[in-house]
Amino acid sequence: MIPGPGEALVRCHAAAICTAERRVFSGHMKYYPMIGGHEFTGTVERVDGLETDLEPGDRVAIDASTRCGRCYYCVKGRNNQCVKMFEFRRDYDYYQMGGGFGEFVALRPGQMIRLADHVDLEEASVLEPLACCIHSLKRAQIRFGETVLVIGAGTMGGMHVMLAKLAGASVIVSDIDPVRLVQAAQLGADRAVNPETEDLVAVVKDLTAGRGADGVIVAAGSRRAGEQALQCVGRTGRLVFYASLHPPGMLDLDWNRVHYEEIMITGTEGHTDRDFHEAAALLSNGSISVRPLISRVIALEDLPAELGSRPAGETQRVVVRL
Ligand SMILES: [Zn+2]
Ligand SMILES: [Zn+2]
Repeated sequence: MIPGPGEALVRCHAAAICTAERRVFSGHMKYYPMIGGHEFTGTVERVDGLETDLEPGDRVAIDASTRCGRCYYCVKGRNNQCVKMFEFRRDYDYYQMGGGFGEFVALRPGQMIRLADHVDLEEASVLEPLACCIHSLKRAQIRFGETVLVIGAGTMGGMHVMLAKLAGASVIVSDIDPVRLVQAAQLGADRAVNPETEDLVAVVKDLTAGRGADGVIVAAGSRRAGEQALQCVGRTGRLVFYASLHPPGMLDLDWNRVHYEEIMITGTEGHTDRDFHEAAALLSNGSISVRPLISRVIALEDLPAELGSRPAGETQRVVVRL
């Protein structure tokens, strides 16, 4: 690995496995050959002649996004929507999705954030999804004392729970998996609901004096989750579709409810560079610990077996130590 002009060389240290890498491995996303690992940390190896404050040995979180800085959305400050975001580099003879599963990676200094000494590099490998959840909660425009409903208590649901609590909200979480519900409660959820055994809409209404939730995050990719979200969102509420839906589908919408009750419905995609900086700051200043969301740390040799399996009931991130 030889860094190009304007690039530093980084030694990869830990990389979390995201759904995207699992989709490539299973053949649902066809990009071959590929080096994955887009949620990762490392240490700076070389910064030869670069204008940067980074020094060799610095421990860094890596924002693997490739933003152009010039397109309509980048200029508007919405660089999570950069039109070049999903363009792969053409100078490699393989696809690189982050590249954190490799030994070294070449990066622009702006893609790295120096971490405080006490921050664990394995824990910090999940900063990228944390940044995505920060972006999502901003879309939900949560205010102190509001009630947030998080539908889906996987890794992403769990991060939303922690961040919503940090933002001063009362948090209800819904999931059909009892193990996930226990974990969500441990992460700070005020009320955990299994919609298969309880009436979710009734619980939400009960806890909000009949109003419905101020913010609803759909962190589960099912039509049923979307329908429940529409039923649970209250007057002036904001509904965020965090998860994508596969295969794609439609939802019925009550036009007049959206009109009269001023309900805002939006999605969320990735994170801006600012969201990533905020995620790193939350970890560095100790406001949040994402360690509970990492179930296992495995060796690189065990990566193929891990990618080939989908452990049942496991809701957290698996991190590869390099
Ligand atoms: Zn990811
Ligand atoms: Zn752009």
